[in-house]
Amino acid sequence: MKPPPFEYYNPQSLDEALSHLAEHGYDAKILAGGQSLVPMLNFRLAQPAILVDLNNITDLAYIQNGDSGGVQIGAMTRHAQVERDPIVADRAPLIHETMPMIATTQIRSRGTFGGSIAHADPSAELVAISVALEGKFRLRSQSGEREVPAADFFLGMFTTQLEPEEILVETSFPTKPARTGWAIKEIARRPHDFALVGVATVVSLHADDRIQNSRIVFLSVGDGPVVAEKAAETLRDQSPSPELLRAAAETAAVEDIDPSNDIHASAEFRRHLAKVLTRQALETAIERAKG
Ligand SMILES: Cc1cc2nc3c(=O)[nH]c(=O)nc-3n(C[C@H](O)[C@H](O)[C@H](O)COP(=O)(O)OP(=O)(O)OC[C@H]3O[C@@H](n4cnc5c(N)ncnc54)[C@H](O)[C@@H]3O)c2cc1C
Repeated sequence: MKPPPFEYYNPQSLDEALSHLAEHGYDAKILAGGQSLVPMLNFRLAQPAILVDLNNITDLAYIQNGDSGGVQIGAMTRHAQVERDPIVADRAPLIHETMPMIATTQIRSRGTFGGSIAHADPSAELVAISVALEGKFRLRSQSGEREVPAADFFLGMFTTQLEPEEILVETSFPTKPARTGWAIKEIARRPHDFALVGVATVVSLHADDRIQNSRIVFLSVGDGPVVAEKAAETLRDQSPSPELLRAAAETAAVEDIDPSNDIHASAEFRRHLAKVLTRQALETAIERAKG
């Protein structure tokens, strides 16, 4: 398959890219790593009149320490760069652990952090972990800038708060309190396939090891990232035990998610996977929180 015809713009600065988007609105689409957009063009699932290529805007590719201890990742940073970055490994170990789960080395060498977030695939790991880590997205247009928490950004399948004239320029992750652990677990039929089910957890403990706070976020079980709020409530202020974690995992799989049947897996099988993976992820996160 070949893409439909389009006009190609190759801006050399963010301002230039923003002016193209302001002029053309819904007729234009941003090209980042092209790992999702190009297949969509080839299948004619997207038919923009204009492509605005961000690949020469080098200012958007960076990883730096956040103001208050977290990490900031520019939208055009390639997955492969995030995977190898020492700041990410040190300050955001959940992201470091997640990167090799995304597709293949070849796709990670082109695909971008911002492209994955903006694309909002419900099976994308970065979508789920940005919610689990309470990340924030900086969106820029010609008329200004706004910051949107990850929890509010994803509106549904492939749908976000991004307006056609906006570019996602940066994702920032806050520092986590001491005694916080994390884990991501997923199952795919073959290595590097999109996961049938995945779950990211971030757990903070009180000084006496009771659970202070937990975030449990699923991928591939709904139209977007699914936060398991009821399961998190069953854990709050409780002492971790195998029975407690099993009960929380059961709540997550039965009450918090509503997966559907598709050609890849039945809803029942997805619930089963969700239960097993949640228990495993909570165990790992709590072990890490205890240090
Ligand atoms: C075979 C295969 C397997 C894959 N497996 C996985 C996987 O297991 N897990 C996973 O998470 N992903 C997977 N991917 C997707 C991959 O991670 C892509 O890199 C990612 O989804 C999109 O990033 P990109 O930079 O290539 O964006 P593009 O394809 O260039 O763009 C994607 C969309 O986002 C928009 N966009 C891009 N950047 C911005 C921006 N800065 N601001 C606003 N809008 C923007 C584009 O207009 C487009 O609509 C897979 C892809 C392939 C081809």
